[in-house]
Amino acid sequence: MHLDLATTSMLAGMALNETPALNTLTPEEARLVFTEINRSMPPGPEQVSSEDCQIPVEGGAIRGRILRPSMTAKSVMVYYHGGGWVIGNIDDYDAVGRHLAETCQAIVIMVDYRKAPEHPFPVPVNDCYAALNWVDTQRSKLRIHDLPLVVAGDSAGGNLAAVMSIKARDESGPEIALQALIYPVTDGRMGAESFTHEDKQLFLTTEIMAFFWDHYADSKTRLDPLASPALTASLADLPPAVVLTAEFDILVDEGRTFAEHLKASGVPVSYRDFAQQMHGFFAMPAALPAAGKAMAWLAQEMDRHLNPTERKDVVVVGAGFSGMYQLHKLREQGLNVQVFEAGSDVGGTWYWNRYPGARVDIESMAYSFSFSDELQQEWEWSEKYSPQPELLKYAQHIADRFDLKSDIAFDTRVASAHFDEDTNEWLVTTECGRRVRAQHLVMATGVLSASKTPDISGRDNYRGETYRTGLWPKEGVDFTGKRVAVIGTGSSAVQAIPLIAEEADDVVVYQRTATFTTPALNHALNKDDASVIKANYAEYRAKQRLNVLGVVDERSLERTMDVSAQERDRRFKAGWESGILPGMLFQFADLQVEQEANDAISEYIRDRIRDTVKDEQTAQDLLPTDYPYGTKRPCIDTNYYETFNRENVSLVNLRRTPIETITQKGIRTAEGEREFDAIVYATGFDAMTGPLLRVDIRGRGGVKLTDAWNDGPRSYLGIAIHGFPNLFTITGPSSPSVLSNMLVSIEQHVDWVSDCIQWMKTEGKATIEPSDSAEQEWAEHTEQLANMTLYPKANSWYMGANVPGKPRMFLAYVGGVGTYRMICDQVAAAGYRGFQAA
Ligand code: NAP
Repeated sequence: MHLDLATTSMLAGMALNETPALNTLTPEEARLVFTEINRSMPPGPEQVSSEDCQIPVEGGAIRGRILRPSMTAKSVMVYYHGGGWVIGNIDDYDAVGRHLAETCQAIVIMVDYRKAPEHPFPVPVNDCYAALNWVDTQRSKLRIHDLPLVVAGDSAGGNLAAVMSIKARDESGPEIALQALIYPVTDGRMGAESFTHEDKQLFLTTEIMAFFWDHYADSKTRLDPLASPALTASLADLPPAVVLTAEFDILVDEGRTFAEHLKASGVPVSYRDFAQQMHGFFAMPAALPAAGKAMAWLAQEMDRHLNPTERKDVVVVGAGFSGMYQLHKLREQGLNVQVFEAGSDVGGTWYWNRYPGARVDIESMAYSFSFSDELQQEWEWSEKYSPQPELLKYAQHIADRFDLKSDIAFDTRVASAHFDEDTNEWLVTTECGRRVRAQHLVMATGVLSASKTPDISGRDNYRGETYRTGLWPKEGVDFTGKRVAVIGTGSSAVQAIPLIAEEADDVVVYQRTATFTTPALNHALNKDDASVIKANYAEYRAKQRLNVLGVVDERSLERTMDVSAQERDRRFKAGWESGILPGMLFQFADLQVEQEANDAISEYIRDRIRDTVKDEQTAQDLLPTDYPYGTKRPCIDTNYYETFNRENVSLVNLRRTPIETITQKGIRTAEGEREFDAIVYATGFDAMTGPLLRVDIRGRGGVKLTDAWNDGPRSYLGIAIHGFPNLFTITGPSSPSVLSNMLVSIEQHVDWVSDCIQWMKTEGKATIEPSDSAEQEWAEHTEQLANMTLYPKANSWYMGANVPGKPRMFLAYVGGVGTYRMICDQVAAAGYRGFQAA
């Protein structure tokens, strides 16, 4: 006999403690001993939520316990604990249930069925069946909706789970998707050879098993198939089974034989015998590492049975503007597409970013789709810069108008995407266990969608309300009468602070880097102005497509220092009063490449801050001085600087007084602790690469994208990656993306990708990917262009500098939207130059 060390040590401990053999005790004493053994084990994972309930059964009610995992559940598992139908209860099994919930991502419902000898066969069977029916009929009340139903149990509980499957089949009961049988008792005759092996008499001995059977059912009734499922006439048409046994267990033969019979009857079966293990090991997950392995194996096999693989032409990840348009385009090409979206609705950025004041900062007439003339003519924007609710409505309108939702799976986050070189397909797996194979994978995951976990010490200490601008609650937040801290002063904070200040009693803004922002001059959109644009939309859109930023305004070709100081001032004033994002930067050609030119415009903005903010120290603290204007994303605002003149708003300059820690009640800096009712983190995103790298993407040879991009992202045209065939990134790193009107860039990328997929179909190509050299050349080109600008001088998210440990490099293509479009078109026209297609 060779048990593993942990199990050996557990048995030795029990021997030293002189744990009595259960068969020498009364049932009450045996129950107490069993409870003692379980109490000595560590509890299960705390993050599992627990709720007890009453389950109606014949003649009364029994206890149930609902254990919900911390992540999205993939199934609901009705669990029948072990203990020979005589001992054990759901408290003894709490840790087991919690481990199962987390490992199997299942809502585990533990059933405290009544025990023998007080309640012999068939009472436990009837209780368990009543519980199963109760779960199935209470789906919406229990919030388990259409999750597949699994019955599971260990030892005598495994017996009950097997019996439930038979009973449900024979009585047309609940539809069971899977039975998980952990070293099940299956045959009351106790005749299997393993009962005769001396070295298998561990924890459960032949005498103890006889003690259990004798209390449960007399020698005749125990032969009833609902007591001994091995004696069932036919095992055909039973649910798929996962059967697990332990090498040194008297029940090993019963479990294995039952698995073989199920298989022979046509039932899909996963079977594994756990070497070096004894009976009961599965129920000791905190003490025995093998139990963790067994649960992981169970989870894997459950996935395999519950989620057969589907086949599509293309999987698109994300249902923001890019994912929606990509779906529409590919459908038009006759392709079968599956979109996965983590949110509960379309909209992407505009679904998640619901913080007060969230609105677009490119004019809505320009920040809108052009692919459908009907759409652009019929849609009416109410403001120059539309607020988030209207942008979300626009996204919803597109989804409805083009009937997109039927191919989008909402509330479904993609966990992994692995390229299968044998079939030239991507195997995409969701966190809920759905698996889809597809020739092409389009990552339409956005560039600012991975909200950064704030890297501030003590964050978890805080007991008040906490919000993140990028993950704002759907129901909104009422700050009335509250003391609110806002950490961060980027675009999100610049929009949110003025509105939070109008509502809250007191607002303290914690600023690490002062921001440059200019007036947005937002206003209701004049219908006549909109009509003029609509009448000339074709021309307007053509301009956008060739413009450097994807807008219609043009950059001056003049150099800043070539004009007089008065003329510079006049132009800067015009920029300040333009009310558009590039209004200042377009005044001269060299503002983002010449330091002297940039110093001039930066000083102009600093003067406007000094003019606006009344308190001298606050004005001084709000002056951005350590990076050139435009090298961090500039903002446009409504009353940002003015807000600091309010009585209820103050500024903490973290350069002078850094945050020491977040406390239970607030924030402590060198100047002491301030208490808050709410902390708003406007601390930004793991931009560009974050949304891609949080999915486990693996290309040829199983190479992980995280490894391929260890030194920073590499991608040809920001669309495709060497070693990752048929994978396309919409507005990916090293494309213009964040330096442009995103809607223009999204349309261009989606059109290009769709054309490429169509070309592959026409040419009969199974795979396409860029060559290493084309990717290298593009990397050098994009870096060279970035180095000609002032961008690398700032610690910005454009440079990856906002995420500790992220490689420092410029993440976008600065050559302009129009130039980039031409390059992409030329690549395609030259038979996808730089790509290898096979
Ligand atoms: P952001 O620009 O990255 O700003 C994050 C802010 O949080 C910065 O002020 C940053 O300071 C601060 N911060 C981060 N970690 C911190 C820490 N540990 N301690 C103190 N301060 C910390 O993020 P964002 O405001 O969410 O905007 C991101 C991008 O989204 C924008 O640049 C823009 O492209 C887009 N956006 C657009 C709109 C729009 O269209 N209207 C609105 C919102 C956002 P440092 O600068 O010192 O790192």
